[in-house]
Amino acid sequence: MPDGGQPARRQRYRPIDAMQAPRFTGIGTFMRLPNVTAMAGVDAAFIGIPFDTAVSYRIGGRFGPAAIREASRLLRPYNVEQGIEIFEHVSAVDAGDLSVIPGNVQASYGVMEEGLRSILDAGVVPLAMGGDHSITLGELRAIFKRHGPVGLIDFDSHTDTWDNYWGERYTHGTWCRRAIEEGLIDTARSVQLGIRGSLYGPEDRGGARALGLHLIPTETLLERGVDDVLPEVVERAGRGPVFVSFDIDFVDPGFAPGTGTPEVGGPTSRDALRLVRGLRGLDLVGFDLVEVQPQYDHGEVTSLLAGTLLHEFLTLVALDRRDRRKRG
Ligand code: MN
Ligand code: MN
Repeated sequence: MPDGGQPARRQRYRPIDAMQAPRFTGIGTFMRLPNVTAMAGVDAAFIGIPFDTAVSYRIGGRFGPAAIREASRLLRPYNVEQGIEIFEHVSAVDAGDLSVIPGNVQASYGVMEEGLRSILDAGVVPLAMGGDHSITLGELRAIFKRHGPVGLIDFDSHTDTWDNYWGERYTHGTWCRRAIEEGLIDTARSVQLGIRGSLYGPEDRGGARALGLHLIPTETLLERGVDDVLPEVVERAGRGPVFVSFDIDFVDPGFAPGTGTPEVGGPTSRDALRLVRGLRGLDLVGFDLVEVQPQYDHGEVTSLLAGTLLHEFLTLVALDRRDRRKRG
């Protein structure tokens, strides 16, 4: 049995060495990291939150974490663009899935708060795999208890600030409004990128702005370009704790067809990767990647992109740990 556990030399968790056991072997965890739930000696933990019954259209995100794990077998430990050997600086594990309750969003929020608490209390950065976007509210409630209100960097083609769907107040299209109402997000340090698509009326976008959110719609983003937009995002997020949420429908459905509410005319996967890589130097306290629905995917294109984005998130954690150690 190939050992993906702790090498004695560094006492760090890292993926199974692909030169010892080929990447298509073994049981699927994120990047073939060890499946560990005790948080001692851990810096970053991937965790599946396969809750998907708070959606307004297609369903199937419950199978997102499994698909992302399978696609992530391909990912390698050195990040070329960021110039860092990730696992030299970060000890990472796959903590498995939370046992959410299908059809019961309130009870599932309790499961999420409890599940994330043990990760956060250990000073570990959670990297969650959804699930539909409603899970972000459960994560933010847990994050709030540890860090207080956070700046939110939200990649999404939707603002998710509707008040309710059919009277339901806790859905993947309302979580952001609820998070602001609950005081979980510092809107002055928050930004939503990639907003596009048809709406119910002009008040939809206005409503998000009235809540204090800063919107960078897809048209603006693509017109100005990644390099022009990035400094604005980083400056706005500022010095306090920041949570990054990535709804895969941010990316054009040509690059990410496996999702629930696709909006055409979006950024490419390359744009998305470059934007995430630019989030260096922030106090990043948590990440999620949501809305992957493998049933609508083709050739793993969506789940591979999702896995690669999570790989970039982990790289940001590694860069942060490296820089902190340098500073002493
Ligand atoms: Mn969303
Ligand atoms: Mn969306």
